[in-house]
Amino acid sequence: MRITDVRTAEVLGHGYSTFVRIYTDEGLFGTGECIHGGAGCPRLVATMTELLRGEDPRDVEPLFERIRRRYLFEGALAGNVVTALAGIEIALWDLAGKALGAPVYRLLGGRYRDRIRLYCDCHGGKEDTPASHAEQALAAAALGFTALKFDVDDLTHPAKADRWNHTLNAREMASMVEKVAAVREAVGPSIDLAIDMHGRYDTHSAIRLARALEPFELMWLEEPVPPENVDAMREVKRCSPVPICAGENLFLRWGFRDLLEKQAVDIIMPDLPKCGGLAEGKKIAGMAELYYIPIAPHNVCGPLGTLASCHAGAAIPNFLVLEWHWLERPYWNDLLIVDAPLIQNGAIRVPDRPGLGYELNEDVAQHYLRPGTTLFGEA
Ligand SMILES: [Mg+2]
Repeated sequence: MRITDVRTAEVLGHGYSTFVRIYTDEGLFGTGECIHGGAGCPRLVATMTELLRGEDPRDVEPLFERIRRRYLFEGALAGNVVTALAGIEIALWDLAGKALGAPVYRLLGGRYRDRIRLYCDCHGGKEDTPASHAEQALAAAALGFTALKFDVDDLTHPAKADRWNHTLNAREMASMVEKVAAVREAVGPSIDLAIDMHGRYDTHSAIRLARALEPFELMWLEEPVPPENVDAMREVKRCSPVPICAGENLFLRWGFRDLLEKQAVDIIMPDLPKCGGLAEGKKIAGMAELYYIPIAPHNVCGPLGTLASCHAGAAIPNFLVLEWHWLERPYWNDLLIVDAPLIQNGAIRVPDRPGLGYELNEDVAQHYLRPGTTLFGEA
């Protein structure tokens, strides 16, 4: 079996996802989804195609490594090059699974679990008050989710004296605590709750907030400080009574090395269709396991990329929970050809069918294409 062509499509969801489709001389194709690679991602995939043509798609990891090494001088340490490669890698797994008649989790080493628990990333509602946060939390819990996440960072807070510095004042902090308190009170103790700060605060502000949030039994506090300085993150973690989670802006194993070796977080959150794909995610999880750190993958993909993270999550012992971030977009499920909603009771059952298990619904994808682009048209 040989690869004959690679094509892409950009479909609107949480931003634009790049779908990568890899074709073979035996008529089989595989489809992957990557995200946050930006408008340049399809172009990068197109330039990588010559390294794939004529190769056996079942050599997933050697093909990944071949492209990664070839692009070392063109930005393959992090960023869009890695994300484009992740889209290719996921398409290769789908294709390899179909060629071998096996689900992707089987090719990744077998499954520890057949159901992947999701957490629903919620917004605080139009009013953005404690009450509207509580309302959103109850609505998500009513859909069956047993874990939720809310954002508390607010750069437009009326008490904010300066748009640029990262320091929280007492009024801003009080607003954050009130929102978290309202959500916890609304959903009770049996729903897990994560809070995201999007790396927008300085070390001391982050530590003060972490301490103020201690009574609410958080699943984690996310990116309390910007992600670039591991030592600052470690200082927050050292002083925080709540678990600290970070990693959605890091790439490849090497991007996580410092964070893990310094044990600067309690939980890592690599975004697999962004940071390097499924085998890379499993390797990162293995590094985390050395320090008894669980992995809760970040995920804003449509259903195909989410399924890819589910297959990896099934094959990773220290998997904790996977993000789902499409509450405001009703067409998530429609992007796949499925008989029933993929998410049931706040979880996804990992499909046993070959490859990722389901195909992209091209009619729906066509409707949400980036204007001026085509669905798997010639590059
Ligand atoms: Mg985040």
